[in-house]
Amino acid sequence: MKHPTLVIHGGAIFAPSDYEASRYAEYKSFLQKALDTGYTILNKGGPALDAVEQAIWILEECGMFDAGRGAVYTYDGKQELDASIMDGSNLKAGAVAGVRTIKRPISAARSVMEHTWHVLLMGQGAEAFAKEQALEIVDPSYFHNSREWGRYVKLKAEADQKKQKKESRNHSTVGAVALDNHGNLAAGTSTGGLDLKLYGRVGDAPIIGAGTYANNQTCALSMTGEGEYFIRTSAAYQVHARMTFAGQSLAEASQNVLDEIKQMGGIGGMIGITSDGTVAMPYTSIDMFCGYKNSDSEEVRLFPKPSDSSQ
Ligand code: ASP
Repeated sequence: MKHPTLVIHGGAIFAPSDYEASRYAEYKSFLQKALDTGYTILNKGGPALDAVEQAIWILEECGMFDAGRGAVYTYDGKQELDASIMDGSNLKAGAVAGVRTIKRPISAARSVMEHTWHVLLMGQGAEAFAKEQALEIVDPSYFHNSREWGRYVKLKAEADQKKQKKESRNHSTVGAVALDNHGNLAAGTSTGGLDLKLYGRVGDAPIIGAGTYANNQTCALSMTGEGEYFIRTSAAYQVHARMTFAGQSLAEASQNVLDEIKQMGGIGGMIGITSDGTVAMPYTSIDMFCGYKNSDSEEVRLFPKPSDSSQ
């Protein structure tokens, strides 16, 4: 029997000013809740896919991270959500991109995997599919978040003043990877993408092999950071490939991929777990919200707290 383990992230941290010190206890409590919920599933012998889906759902729903109800806004002031999930036991995967009315993007991604022969559905097609599957549909206003809207208004005014649409800051995508006691791995990622992303922009999160990958032979991975770089380097698949073909460890392979991305000018982080339960949580951003839990130990890592924080 394997040693069930869950690893989660709440995104790479780009700018300390994006995080409110007064809300550290909340960030921590939702990360802890996601870990506890997912781990309880694993500990009862449940599948890695369920643990990943449930942990991500908690982070989508809580409104604290850049996913679901905490999603950042596009340049046009909309929230467009991307999510994906992958089953390491059979390499099946599902994803949705640019959706605005699906309450649980991660569950829609799982439905694409389980109920279609496709991998990625986008926009209105994905929404029609979710409706057909009787997944919960909401008005786009369900995701509205006044804190993120406030950031959007400020960032857009700055970008307009600079007459520059590119603004690569982001604000904490979420993801989870798990190993269950049958030895199966799963990975999932969910995001609102980057601040001020342009119409129709799709990042790495719903791209299998870029933002998400799982293969029982090696590892399960979920990425966060400037998605364009993770797509251009096939980041998640590349970690798997380095382990498979170059015999690298998860720690070496994941650091090498982040270093390559950094050389190209991009930053971010990732979480990974191997089929023997080894965990990695490297990043090149200033920090990354993340944590893991198994029967021996657990950790929730927050951005270094400001001195006035009560944490
Ligand atoms: N990787 C995500 C994207 O580019 C953003 C993030 O991780 O925060 O859409």
